[in-house]
Amino acid sequence: MLSWEDKLVSRFVRYAERHTASDPHSDAFPSTPEQMEFALLLAGELETAGLSEVEVDANGYVMATLPSNVPEEVPVVGFIAHMDTSPDFNGLGVLPQIIEKYDGGTIILNREKNMLLSPEEFSGLKQYAGETLIVTDGATLLGADDKAGIAEIVTAIESLIHTPEIRHGKIRICFTPDEEIGRGADRFDLKKFGADFAYTVDGGELGELEYENFNAARAEIRITGKSVHPGAAKNIMVNALLVAQQLLALLPPEQKPENTEHYEGFFHLVELSGKAAEAKMELLIRDFDALKFHQKKQLLETIVAELNAGTGYPAIELDMKDQYYNMREKIEPVMHIVELAKEAMTMAGVEPRVIPIRGGTDGARLSWLGLPCPNIFTGGHNFHGPWEFIPVSSMVKAMEVIQNICKLATEMHKKS
Ligand SMILES: [Zn+2]
Repeated sequence: MLSWEDKLVSRFVRYAERHTASDPHSDAFPSTPEQMEFALLLAGELETAGLSEVEVDANGYVMATLPSNVPEEVPVVGFIAHMDTSPDFNGLGVLPQIIEKYDGGTIILNREKNMLLSPEEFSGLKQYAGETLIVTDGATLLGADDKAGIAEIVTAIESLIHTPEIRHGKIRICFTPDEEIGRGADRFDLKKFGADFAYTVDGGELGELEYENFNAARAEIRITGKSVHPGAAKNIMVNALLVAQQLLALLPPEQKPENTEHYEGFFHLVELSGKAAEAKMELLIRDFDALKFHQKKQLLETIVAELNAGTGYPAIELDMKDQYYNMREKIEPVMHIVELAKEAMTMAGVEPRVIPIRGGTDGARLSWLGLPCPNIFTGGHNFHGPWEFIPVSSMVKAMEVIQNICKLATEMHKKS
């Protein structure tokens, strides 16, 4: 009989081979038909594994239940992972390669393309000398983000079904589409899911545990110049491109992505295009701290108002919208769910590494919608590109952590 580790690896490889990149240009939900096909395949596997209430809804969300095996009322715990892979890099024709007893040196991913995975470039590699790694063939991403999460959840729950002596409450699982294009929480039926709290299994390397992320807003800025013949322009012409330049010069230069790290926020210029007559730009505003986030938005509004006063007409139109918020505010009142994850890791011999997410997650949006949802590691490295890899030992640990969370949650009293 196959070991749980073998099952986990073969399951991951099978999932990784499927092309499930999401498509930001599609209005469909899910954005690609391949994700719906994958959802149906997963539902079949969950049924075979012995889960109940297995369901795929019209939007491609897969849900299933592991019923409680304890008499007392304990919290319903959820586990969530996403089925899509990033559209930022080729996800068609993924052929995972398994490197057994990695020698600690450079791995040749693809000889013809001279694609190498080397410890000089990726310092995280060295620590896995002697272990089994799963890597790409250099032509695609691997999709450990987040198919490792799915494989880990399914295998952890399947193994719980085969070890009924392990006590656990009701467990709900959900696989979502379109996380990579920011839509994974859009049609998540929280009521149907019915968990008291959940974990996304969508983090990076061994031990990662995250419950803080950016507050985020997007600003679309349209600048209308006053276009006249340059020979007769004195005191009349307003050059939209130069107004854009003035605006950018008034933003604090240290608050750019390339100058910030850890808990520092930024303004990120994503797009700038135009002519003297008309220009447009897109800015992303990010900060962990709610007050600083607010101040950043206010600063942009003030700059726009001042420049408009200078031109004497509303040359700049600012359309600024909040995108998502830091989940910390929603997790702090239930910090015991973070403690639970830490304890589950310690029990598995994994040192928890709490880090802030310099981005957003579906878990953040779900937390604000009422389902507190920290993020735990999958074990993967270098997501969204050809150098993505995952050590099998980390995947096994992720599986153990999921099981430990199920066990430990039975010691929590259900809040009514
Ligand atoms: Zn992910």
